[in-house]
Amino acid sequence: MVYPIVAYGSPVLKRVAQEVDATAEETKQFIEDLFETMYASKGVGLAAPQVGVSWRIFVVDGSPFAEDAENDQEAEVLKNFKRVFVNPTILEESGELWGFEEGCLSIPDIHETVKRKPSIVIESQLPDGTWVEESFTGLPARIFQHEYDHIEGMLFLDRLTPLKRRMLQGRLKDIASGKVNPFYRLKFDVK
Ligand SMILES: [Zn+2]
Repeated sequence: MVYPIVAYGSPVLKRVAQEVDATAEETKQFIEDLFETMYASKGVGLAAPQVGVSWRIFVVDGSPFAEDAENDQEAEVLKNFKRVFVNPTILEESGELWGFEEGCLSIPDIHETVKRKPSIVIESQLPDGTWVEESFTGLPARIFQHEYDHIEGMLFLDRLTPLKRRMLQGRLKDIASGKVNPFYRLKFDVK
């Protein structure tokens, strides 16, 4: 099932999401639906709150970014970075902040340079319930961090300078009030 994407201005996007039972039948179905929705809207990641479900789950597919990779090794990681993260936490973030232009399905047509640390160590559950600890650097880390922000009730906008945010205010108001028209379906003011 393809969900509509929850648009900027919806309270659910600002809420800290709840842990889920990784192996429950409804979780399995939901993960399938999240993948289907991410592909239908051509995202490289999609978090549960973006479809109106306040659960700590997100899916990623970094393969479209493989061309932007810093080196062959990162390109290889990105090509295979297609998976779900259940109940993830960031255990460690390190390195010098670096900027990269991010966009978000919930905030159509706005792209801004966001600064993040390049390396992370994370822990999460696989769909079979197993806990794993992993490290990511560069673009895979960034995709993870962007989606992780969603389950913590944050958007990339929250990482911009106050001045930048003020400059975007008019366009953000337009999005929240429905004056936006992406090729995928949107849903507004989702609690
Ligand atoms: Zn996003």
